[in-house]
Amino acid sequence: MATDANCLFCKIVAGEVSAEVVHRDDRLVAFRDIAPKAPLHVLIAPRDHQPDAAASTATDPTIVGELVAAAAVIAEQEGYEAYNLLFNTGAEAGQTIFHTHLHLLAGGISALPV
Ligand code: 5GP
Ligand code: ZN
Repeated sequence: MATDANCLFCKIVAGEVSAEVVHRDDRLVAFRDIAPKAPLHVLIAPRDHQPDAAASTATDPTIVGELVAAAAVIAEQEGYEAYNLLFNTGAEAGQTIFHTHLHLLAGGISALPV
């Protein structure tokens, strides 16, 4: 499994940087965004360090589906039937953390998380 010592989300996945974790398993970790753009704003990150969703898919074809499945479980746990999912991919599209993460937003988006 790839990891990057300088990556913030690798540190959150490893528990070296604190975050409000809502779900974790052997494949992924989900935690609340530090600057939420909606009442529910959770980031779901694979444990494996890859720079974006396309790279994760190329390395591990099922992982993006697992992130989406986790999002559905978390949304239901948090009491939301409807939600939005977003992968920012590339700096020009607003990606700032180059460790794959799926944004799960619900309850009314105040701004796109880019
Ligand atoms: P991106 O723009 O790369 O798609 O999303 C990165 C997200 O990570 C942003 O929504 C930002 O608020 C969030 N973020 C940045 N630093 C931290 C942090 O230290 N902890 C948590 N929980 N979220 C962070
Ligand atoms: Zn990483």
